[in-house]
Amino acid sequence: MRKIIIFLGPPGAGKGTHAKEVSQILNIPHISTGDIFREAVKTQTELGVKVKEYLDAGKLVPDELVWAVVRDRLEKEDCKDGFILDGFPRTIPQAEMLDNYLKEKKTTPKVVYLDVSDELVIRRLSSRRVCKNCGAIYNLISMPPKKDGICDICGGELYQRSDDQPEVIKHRLETYYNETQPLIDYYKNKNYMHTIDAEGEREEVLKKILKVIEE
Ligand code: AMP
Repeated sequence: MRKIIIFLGPPGAGKGTHAKEVSQILNIPHISTGDIFREAVKTQTELGVKVKEYLDAGKLVPDELVWAVVRDRLEKEDCKDGFILDGFPRTIPQAEMLDNYLKEKKTTPKVVYLDVSDELVIRRLSSRRVCKNCGAIYNLISMPPKKDGICDICGGELYQRSDDQPEVIKHRLETYYNETQPLIDYYKNKNYMHTIDAEGEREEVLKKILKVIEE
């Protein structure tokens, strides 16, 4: 059966970390719209030029543009057995576009909502570091690299995302509450959302996620 998993939750809830782990376990692609946009900005593609100002300000990229990118990605061969969405959908119109698409494909997603407190989000985001080379995610407090500033996996340089600075974090959280949190009710009403307490140890949270996915 085609496995379609959507990770929902505020920035810093652990969507990226867990989506990467689940992607390896289930052998289906991890699709992060944030990663796609950051890569486009870095390589200065046409898409990158269009989305840069939104990312720098912690604002949402317009729905139609995001959906065009996601739909293209979902049509790729590697998505035929399923995929994991991280950071999409982020608004009700995005969720509706995805729903219509999945209906056409006669599939239903599993929505995994990672529930964490505001304080934890702020603490996690301000101490998050990412590998420039392989994208591995670290946390200076709860999951530091073995060597300062260096990725354990590939030896790449670690950096702080420009939108993980305090002022932008504040703005991203406001955007989350205004635009994305309504999705929780949207999916609750559809009966395919599972809420996971994501405050605990990473391994514990992963176990809970896998249980829900395998049900
Ligand atoms: P993320 O890595 O998921 O925190 O995303 C980083 C940034 O990319 C966000 O702050 C937005 O500017 C943009 N972005 C990512 N996904 C979406 C989306 N689904 N809709 C609109 N903007 C997005």
